[in-house]
Amino acid sequence: MEAFIFLFAKCRLCLERPGVINLFGSGNEDLPEDVYLCTGLRVHPSDNFPQKICNECIGIIHEAKKLRVRAFKNDTHLRTLFMVDGVKKDNSVSN
Ligand SMILES: [Zn+2]
Repeated sequence: MEAFIFLFAKCRLCLERPGVINLFGSGNEDLPEDVYLCTGLRVHPSDNFPQKICNECIGIIHEAKKLRVRAFKNDTHLRTLFMVDGVKKDNSVSN
């Protein structure tokens, strides 16, 4: 049982560093969804697993979210550039 209590104080994602940020705390409403979008892992307050994550993991989650938002924005931009009225233009490079 003691081992479980020890694990509960760890970061939910890496299980290495101490958990310091509550996954379900106020101000972190987007965090469970961000974790899911980054890792594919669903976290829930009633799953009885560690409820906090460490600063390193939250940094990775934030960077991954920024990349995701940027990639989607750029994908939309590319599609706009190469589509006219929903029809794909030839974007092949010719010499
Ligand atoms: Zn961590």
